[in-house]
Amino acid sequence: MMNNEEIAPHVKEIVRVLEGKVKEEDIRRDLDNYLDVYRMSLEASKRYIVRKYGGDPNALTSGNMKTLAQLGLNEGNVDILVRVMSSVTREITVSGMPKTIQSGVLADEAGTTVKFTLWEPSKIDLKAGENYLIRYAYTREWNGQPEIQLGNRAVVEQRPQEEVTVPEGVSVPSTGSYSAPQAVKVSELQDNMYNLIFTGRILSIQKREVDTRSGKKTLFSGIIADETGRVEFTAWEDFDLHEGEVITISNAYVKGWKGIPRISFGERSEITRPEGEFPTAEELSKEVRRTISDIESTGGAADVVVRGTVVDIKKGTGLIFRCPECRRVVLKGVCQIHGKVQQVPDLRIRVILDDGAAAMTAVMRKEVTEELLDITLKEALEEARETMNIEAIAKRFEDQLLAKPMELRGNVMSDEYGLSMNVKEAKFATIDVKSEAEALLARMEVI
Ligand SMILES: [Zn+2]
Repeated sequence: MMNNEEIAPHVKEIVRVLEGKVKEEDIRRDLDNYLDVYRMSLEASKRYIVRKYGGDPNALTSGNMKTLAQLGLNEGNVDILVRVMSSVTREITVSGMPKTIQSGVLADEAGTTVKFTLWEPSKIDLKAGENYLIRYAYTREWNGQPEIQLGNRAVVEQRPQEEVTVPEGVSVPSTGSYSAPQAVKVSELQDNMYNLIFTGRILSIQKREVDTRSGKKTLFSGIIADETGRVEFTAWEDFDLHEGEVITISNAYVKGWKGIPRISFGERSEITRPEGEFPTAEELSKEVRRTISDIESTGGAADVVVRGTVVDIKKGTGLIFRCPECRRVVLKGVCQIHGKVQQVPDLRIRVILDDGAAAMTAVMRKEVTEELLDITLKEALEEARETMNIEAIAKRFEDQLLAKPMELRGNVMSDEYGLSMNVKEAKFATIDVKSEAEALLARMEVI
C-alpha cells in the first residue's frame, strides 16, 4: 500500500490533467479505492480515473521521465523537460520529394545538451529559448551519442520560463552535419521516418499496376519481416525481388495508414543481398507480442499480440443493428445517411484494454465475439426477445469481460482518439498481466 507522501504527487498530476475540474480529495479517494480495493496498478488506476472524469489519459506522463544524461542510445518512449537552445529548419530530399524538418539542440536543468530532429514541423513548433515538456520522444544513436527524435506521436507542451533553468555557460554543439542513415527494426518503424537502412526477409510479394499522374506504373508490394515483427512494403521500382530472400534496403522511408507503418523504397534506394544468418520464414511468421505503450510510441503496428486487462466497456457493445447499405450502426431503424432502413442485427464488442502502462480501444466483430463469449447472434436475438431487453446482452457481455485479463491479436491503428485494435483473435488470459508487461519491457530494453 502506498503512503500519503508517495500518493500525493500522483493525485496532483491527475488534478492537473483534469484541469482542476475535480477536487483533490475526490481523486484521492478514487485512487485509494482502485489501488487497494480493485488492486489495479498505479498507472492503470491513474489512467482509469482520468478517463472516468472525461480527461485524456495520454496527458499523463508515461512514467518514463528522464534527464538528458539518463537517455540511452535506443529509447523507445521517454518524457523530457527541456529548453530549446538552438533550432534550424532545413529542407532535405526524400525519394525525390522535398521535405522540411527541424533540428537543433536541447538542454536541461543539469546543463546536459542533446541534439534533436523534429520530423513534422508543421504539427509541432519548437522555438529557441522556450521550455517544453516533451512526451513520446525516442532516441537514435548518432556518433555514439543519443539524438532525440520527435515523430508523429510526440506530444509537446510549452512550459513556463522558471520551470527549466539551464546553467550559464553551457556549450551548445553545432548542428551543421545532419542525417546519417538510421538502421531500424520493424518494431521501431513509425510514420514519416526517412533515410532508413532496413534488413528483412521477404515473406510474400505481388506485382501490381497503379495509375499515376505520369501514366501506368508497375510496383511490387508484400510482407517483409525481421525478428521484431512483420510489415508491409512497397517497391516503386523493379529490384528483381523474390519471395524468401533477405534484402537490405538503403534510403527507405515509412508511409503509414492510420499509424500502421509501411516501408517504401524507390529509385533513390539501393538493394543489397547480405550474406550470413537470418531467421527463417517460418520463424518470422510466429506471433509477435508488443506492449501498448511500445505501440503507442510508434503509432501503430501490423499483426501483433497485446496483453492487458479490460478496464472499460464502450457503448455499442452487445447486440447492435446496422444499415444494410452502409453498415453504419442505426438507431431505432434509422440510418443517418439512408433514413428508415430494414436494419440488420450484429454482435460487437468495444472495450478499453489497459496493460498497466497504456491503453487502447479493441473492437471485435461478430465472429470474434461469438467465439470468445460462446454465444451466437441467433441466441443473443432470442435472449433479447425473451427479456424484451437489448441491453441485457450488453450487461451480460460486461459481466463476462470487465476486469478480465485478455490476449488480443490484430492490427493496431491510431487516430485522434488514440490507439485501436481491429481484433482478429481474442482469448482470455490467465497470467498476471502487469508482471508480464514489465517482463516484456525489460526484455525489450536488453535488445
Ligand atoms: Zn446507411
